[in-house]
Amino acid sequence: MRSNIDGHFLLIGLMAYPIRHSLSPQMQNTIYSKLNIPFIYLAFEVDQPKLADAIKGLRALGLRGSAISMPNKQLVCQYLDKLTPAVEMSGACNTISNDNGVLTGYNTDGIGYMRMLAEAGINMLDKKITILGAGGAATAIAVQAALDGVKEIAIFNQKDECYKKIESVIKKLNEQTKCKVHITDLADENELRRQIADSDVLCNATGVGMKPLEGQSLITDPTILRSDLVVTDCIYSPRKTKLLEMAEQQGCKTLNGIGMMLWQGAAQIKIWTGEDAPIDYVKEQMGFND
Ligand code: NAD
Repeated sequence: MRSNIDGHFLLIGLMAYPIRHSLSPQMQNTIYSKLNIPFIYLAFEVDQPKLADAIKGLRALGLRGSAISMPNKQLVCQYLDKLTPAVEMSGACNTISNDNGVLTGYNTDGIGYMRMLAEAGINMLDKKITILGAGGAATAIAVQAALDGVKEIAIFNQKDECYKKIESVIKKLNEQTKCKVHITDLADENELRRQIADSDVLCNATGVGMKPLEGQSLITDPTILRSDLVVTDCIYSPRKTKLLEMAEQQGCKTLNGIGMMLWQGAAQIKIWTGEDAPIDYVKEQMGFND
């Protein structure tokens, strides 16, 4: 517990609902303490009807910024003054920076995923990724990957609302970046096999593999997973999903969602404080090395 909080401390919020379960306050405050910087991070239960007032409050009280999570990531964009290209394209913001009253919206989920790959020594320039999923995480990853110079993105999703929503994002990515992006119905197993065959990375960005779908995987035939394919899962609980277990058995390099979560938080800290987060220290403090 910090005992030196004085009148100079700056407040960072987290506006979402529900939010009490979030690991972010512990992670962020652990970093601020370690860096010995005058920041404090608090979670606020803010649902959509309260969001406009909450943003007015952020401006009035001079919060340094706020993290934004569900259900507010899309709605919040209309209350901000500036949006990064990733937020413009994805339509979702998870980070607000308040720079002398000017609110800028960022999305650090995709940044966190790409940084996780880079930290693992995986250079994605001119490479191909197959993404399972078309929701918030998948969209953020696809947008950042395209902005970062990935050559091709194959997205697979069931035919639901997410499928329809990501189609307009795909159109923008194809028009505004050099990346070739396409989506296929997840039910088309032959096409899934074909796309993974020349991909460098496979990413599960669905909840399949965590409760209540723990023990399940969208890839059921392990032979799809070549040993030189990097297999990643956005899920971090459990640490090893069924997909990662299968991939490991096939000899693939695997990465779970812890890295994405840590590096997206590190990107937020850079935006709000200008500091580099001590990631190894946080991993150790939060038991992420186990
Ligand atoms: P979302 O609800 O926005 O999207 C869920 C996606 O999963 C959709 O594409 C949906 O079609 C698909 N899906 C759901 N059930 C399915 C099923 N039975 N079969 C096939 N597809 C199914 O959720 P999200 O925010 O994009 O999160 C997706 C996953 O990523 C979750 O597991 C979440 O915990 C994880 N996530 C991790 C991080 C991180 O930092 N590591 C960040 C965000 C999300």
